[in-house]
Amino acid sequence: MQSYRSPRAHWLGSPNFTPGRAGHDMTQPSWVVLHTMVGWVSGANARFQQSSEQASATYGVGLDGALYQWVDEADAAWANGATGRGGRGDNLDSISIEHEDGGRYNDPRPDALYTSSSALVRDICLRYGIPIDRAHVIGHRECDFSSTACPDALDMDRIVAGAATGGDDVDPTLAAKLDQLANVLLSGGDNRVQNPAIFAALAAIRGDDKGLLAAIQAGQASLTAVTSQLAAIKAEIEAGGSVDAAAVLARIEHALQAA
Ligand SMILES: [Zn+2]
Repeated sequence: MQSYRSPRAHWLGSPNFTPGRAGHDMTQPSWVVLHTMVGWVSGANARFQQSSEQASATYGVGLDGALYQWVDEADAAWANGATGRGGRGDNLDSISIEHEDGGRYNDPRPDALYTSSSALVRDICLRYGIPIDRAHVIGHRECDFSSTACPDALDMDRIVAGAATGGDDVDPTLAAKLDQLANVLLSGGDNRVQNPAIFAALAAIRGDDKGLLAAIQAGQASLTAVTSQLAAIKAEIEAGGSVDAAAVLARIEHALQAA
């Protein structure tokens, strides 16, 4: 495996890892394993710097969304309990992500932590071909050979949903263009009587005046789904034929469910 240190993460390093994953290479089956720190990044870092602790994680996400990296992805961090025994979440086949919680592991976490974690999970999964679902992005407590409640109240479903929609990879220029298109359609720019059903549908996918970019980032819509829906609406209107509002609404609802 090639060395990989994320350009977006603060490199902290740790002496605790298995070099070169002992020959494993993150091909399937492999996992992204989520943890909570029960404390602060500073405390986790102090621990991971001690070789006597025999503990580390690949990445850390701060409550403010800041990213940290302790172990190169080409090496195996010691985070999930088992190394080289096989099974779900074996350290040799996993990238592990710690999450700061300030010791309040059962409290809600801020949006910034979730946004950053989702983007990191998406990035990792796309680079290694790991399916972005809850079978492959798992909690420490879901690993074989683990006996822990970690990551406690960290909302893993939310992280996976955010990673799957790619909300953090949105190109603002494209989102702005889509918003412009939505504005034309909403203003009756097709020179015909405004169709209230299409108006309502567009308002819905725009996230109630927040705009497409905000709706996509909030995970309410995927960029791909919104793009294809708007393109379809535009094509129907440009074709000048009758627009079947019910069908358009059904397609948009379908896209939103899939998002
Ligand atoms: Zn853990």
